[in-house]
Amino acid sequence: MESKINKQMCLSSYIKVPLPSGELEELIEKAQDWAIMHGLGIRTNTNFSKDSMQYAPFTLLPSTFPRLEFQDACEIQTILNILIHKVAHDYEFLKETLASTICVDEFTRKLFDIYETVYREGFNQKLSLGLFRSDFMLNSYCYDGNNFKVANVNDSDEVKKEKSFCCWKQVEINTIASGMGWLGTVATKFHKFVLHELGMKNLIEYLPENNAIEGLCDGMLEAWRMYNDPRAIILFVVEEFSTNICDQRGHEFQIKRRNPDVKVVRRTLKQLTSETKLGSKKELILNDSAVVAVVYYRYGYSPEHYTEQEWKVRLLIERSLAIKSPSIQYHLAGTKKVQQALAKSGVVEKFLEDEKNVERVRKIFTGLYSLDFDEEGNRAFEMAVNNPERFVLKPQREGGGNNIYGSDIKKFLITIKNSQERNAWILMDRIYPPSQLNYAITAKDSATNNILKELTPEAGIFGVIIGDDKNNIFVNKQVGHLFRTKKADSNEGGFIAGAAACDSPFLID
Ligand code: ADP
Ligand code: MG
Repeated sequence: MESKINKQMCLSSYIKVPLPSGELEELIEKAQDWAIMHGLGIRTNTNFSKDSMQYAPFTLLPSTFPRLEFQDACEIQTILNILIHKVAHDYEFLKETLASTICVDEFTRKLFDIYETVYREGFNQKLSLGLFRSDFMLNSYCYDGNNFKVANVNDSDEVKKEKSFCCWKQVEINTIASGMGWLGTVATKFHKFVLHELGMKNLIEYLPENNAIEGLCDGMLEAWRMYNDPRAIILFVVEEFSTNICDQRGHEFQIKRRNPDVKVVRRTLKQLTSETKLGSKKELILNDSAVVAVVYYRYGYSPEHYTEQEWKVRLLIERSLAIKSPSIQYHLAGTKKVQQALAKSGVVEKFLEDEKNVERVRKIFTGLYSLDFDEEGNRAFEMAVNNPERFVLKPQREGGGNNIYGSDIKKFLITIKNSQERNAWILMDRIYPPSQLNYAITAKDSATNNILKELTPEAGIFGVIIGDDKNNIFVNKQVGHLFRTKKADSNEGGFIAGAAACDSPFLID
């Protein structure tokens, strides 16, 4: 393991950085134009104009990553798909796990109410379509029970060796709006182009194949086919102004490439409140004309996405015959509370039969703790207050920017010590990933000074699953990956916020 991490920190043993300055500037300009021309782009959310586009933040070079860890993460995805599917179809487990959370977290409660309603009525559509993304980071710290030591790029090789071990750990699994399938796929092509430009064609083989966009869209098309109505459409639920438009349209246009006869329609939840109704067989009907076969949510994962009207339309969709990605039960199975419950001893075993699979899945979990008012929760609470640097505090939210880190954890926990609000949060061991030097290029900061930085990648592996309420599984695949890379010293790398860049793995042995 030590040899891996030392190499991991050393992209320059493959590609020397800094690149010579004249060459660098020319390459960056070319790369920026390549990005714009090939859909590695975003809309600027500063002027909310649909008329312009800029390149998405990117790393100029791919990030080195240990091959075995990457392969392991890819291989495990189909097991995680099954795990989430089974969790999502275990009513008692979801009810028990989320019981304390829904007492205090209104958003999760509203989702759960919809779930209870459709569960009691009986699901009109038995199939669920999962377009999941499991996010993970390399972990390079060593905790001996009292102290923990983080490997640092400035440490000598010997110190690094002493301090470090390196394996991958899951950050979370996304079951709703798991985006970046398009951008991840284009990033691979982008880095192949850059290596070519650098005269390093021989290094292209270090970049793993990435067909995420094909795999995700084939998943949607398979669900569409299973719906079995050639005139039915695919509905994307989106926000009014999508910054991440290339990624969303990337999915739409890929569906068109694969099957030009399938119509894709984009609607906001608000539009759907007046444009949808259920047909006599509970079909989801849009604008009195089109039947919806598949609903793909790129929105609807956050409380501010809903007013009462929009909650009603979510329920209407859940009651319909359309195949949802995610169904309400898939959505709930992706909550942080469920992740924390799965990490308790003996829980994964309830859902996976094969002992080897159980062991593989358990290995990727970091410590996850409830903060509920019981002995276990009180212990976790004290642990976090006494050693906040070791943890991340998370609410039941998606989309980034909601977690609490470092000394803020202590300050915050003290304010909710005697409040039921504790139940809305979970505590997680903090992962300290190794870093490496790379160029981060963002449109708002396109000058070439200060762009060579210590960066750290976060990986995401995409999985597609289609299964029913009896745990029959019709499709179960790992379909590709995405890398988002942030500054080593920042807590989170929100991509849309411009704090993370599109990246690709450069696999080393
Ligand atoms: P969200 O659903 O908002 O995306 P995440 O659990 O993915 O929530 O957390 C957001 C970001 O915070 C992650 O992408 C990662 O950069 C950082 N993060 C989350 N959990 C950890 C952790 N245990 N250790 C270190 N960083 C973390
Ligand atoms: Mg996340």
